Amino acid sequence: MSKLWNVAIVGATGAVGAQMIECLEEREFPVGEIKFLASSRSVGEVLEFKGKPVLVEELKHDSFSGIDIALFSAGGERSREFCPAAAAAGAVCIDNSSAWRMDPEVPLVVPEVNPQAIAGYAKKGIIANPNCSTIQMVVALKPLHDAATIKRIVVSTYQAVSGTGKKAIDELRKQVGELLNCRPVNCNVYPHQIAFNCIPQIDSFEENGYTREELKMVNETRKIMEADIRVTATTVRVPVFYGHAESVNIETEKPLTADGAKKLLKKAPGVKLVDDPAKEVYPMPYTAAGQDLVHVGRVRQDESIDNGLNLWVVADNIRKGAATNAVQIAELLVQKYLNR
Ligand code: NAP
Repeated sequence: MSKLWNVAIVGATGAVGAQMIECLEEREFPVGEIKFLASSRSVGEVLEFKGKPVLVEELKHDSFSGIDIALFSAGGERSREFCPAAAAAGAVCIDNSSAWRMDPEVPLVVPEVNPQAIAGYAKKGIIANPNCSTIQMVVALKPLHDAATIKRIVVSTYQAVSGTGKKAIDELRKQVGELLNCRPVNCNVYPHQIAFNCIPQIDSFEENGYTREELKMVNETRKIMEADIRVTATTVRVPVFYGHAESVNIETEKPLTADGAKKLLKKAPGVKLVDDPAKEVYPMPYTAAGQDLVHVGRVRQDESIDNGLNLWVVADNIRKGAATNAVQIAELLVQKYLNR
């Protein structure tokens, strides 16, 4: 029998945590013991793993004894505080927050793009999962970069509220109900009403006028692709529950036709080409939600420059943008590095 691994999920009661539980089950990850950790608010709550009840425990520094892999999705503050404790106890942490992503001693991994980077896990015992919008973009762009060398990326995002977690999903649901009943709305999660609106602000603003989310897309893309690509981003929150969409414009060093790009995307790992404009077929959050593949369509030449392409990229932000990517990293980690 193959080896079983003891797994802890930090933030098991959250939107990403719940999806991590489902991904471990769906992908039949070889789990021995499972531990669900969250805040003191959730202590005593009972969740299920493979049909069996599991009690939620409070996250503490000594929560990680005997754990092989700790999947973190409880916010940056918890990751900064508890990943070192988990690593010191012998667990490898796969962290969904932004806490460790740009640390030069922590690999930032998308398995379809830079699986080799996992080898660097041993330095700190931490592997970082990139930002959800970055993950889906680099999965789509990797085959095009390999073929034609991307020089510049201009991306605008249309991001679902589930990217902000459970509270934001509730806020959109409540606001839609209130507005349809002609009642005023409360805004607790976002600075403005999100129902029937678009908010061109994700995370806080930096001095240069960009938001932190936009700068994550710039910096993380360069680290994952290991390339000096110029990237500029505008990130927008839209009233969609699940599935981030992105308009992506690239400029390449070598020429690449739209048909050539489609051929590459058709066989690229993790990508589903959904592109038949004549039949009004293209990716949408509504059709990509609940799936692990990154959907790419509307592939066409950018006629305003010599070597340019436009694409429309959509993926389930909770799955490929978070939980699935983390579990894929765990799979590679145990197969290639821990299973010796
Ligand atoms: P969420 O639905 O708000 O869940 C947050 C989780 O963190 C809950 O399990 C919560 O436990 C736990 N938590 C909060 N404070 C804690 C504390 N003091 N001690 C222990 N646990 C605590 O948020 P989410 O969307 O799942 O996101 C979680 C993390 O994943 C964030 O770092 C986020 O940036 C990252 N992420 C999210 C996405 C996405 O698309 N949603 C994508 C990539 C990365 P309680 O239930 O007990 O409060």
